[in-house]
Amino acid sequence: MKKLFISLLLSLIILLCLLPVTVSAEPLNKPINPKDIKEMTFVHFAKPDKPPGQAKKDKPEPEPEGTYELIGTKINGNATYYVNTSGAPDGSITEINASFDAWEEEDAAGEDLFTNGGTTPISGRKYDGQNTISWARIAPKSTIAIATFWYYSDGDPGTFDEIVEFDIVFNAFLNWGIDPDGEGPTPLTDAFDIRNIGTHEVGHIVGLGDLYDNDNSYLTMYGYGSIGETQKISLEAGDKAGAQAIYNP
Ligand SMILES: [Zn+2]
Repeated sequence: MKKLFISLLLSLIILLCLLPVTVSAEPLNKPINPKDIKEMTFVHFAKPDKPPGQAKKDKPEPEPEGTYELIGTKINGNATYYVNTSGAPDGSITEINASFDAWEEEDAAGEDLFTNGGTTPISGRKYDGQNTISWARIAPKSTIAIATFWYYSDGDPGTFDEIVEFDIVFNAFLNWGIDPDGEGPTPLTDAFDIRNIGTHEVGHIVGLGDLYDNDNSYLTMYGYGSIGETQKISLEAGDKAGAQAIYNP
């Protein structure tokens, strides 16, 4: 009898010791382990005279492209970005803000995804705790801009992975300008329009991939850009449908 009592008492003690562990389950906001963070980069090129990888006669025609492509990542909540205007023309902050705003429209993402946090001395693409937009020299010079983001992958292909940081860099080797009204009639003849390229780059942060079919050249997410172009400033149906598919499925 005494033995039974002792063993019951021991069991109780063991149970009590285990109890706090069971109760204090893992917190929901568990810190992200740096090794779980993945990086993805999109490079925006000037359109080459001859597009690379053109289909050869003996190769089967590739599947036709849709009007949007989902990367599988998204902004969760609201992300604050900072602009480094070093090397940028006057008025560039207004243009960059407009690039972000375009995606928040009711018929696009329809969500308040981005906030301008002001200026920053930080530039380039680095996982450093700040979302930055900056100008830096990028080789080769056919590179117009680069968008890089870091995201937390939960390993579930059925859900969007959450972007935890992003940086956009415009190539400082190139001329940058601001089209007076975004549509001509005096388009930039020697410079890339900031808002035009910016809206495309923000599209990657929103979660959309590049499209390269000539049929899609009128879309914001068309992968090539050119001097004086302003076509990407306004989202087209395909761009909006892509944003809707992510934020209002
Ligand atoms: Zn792109």
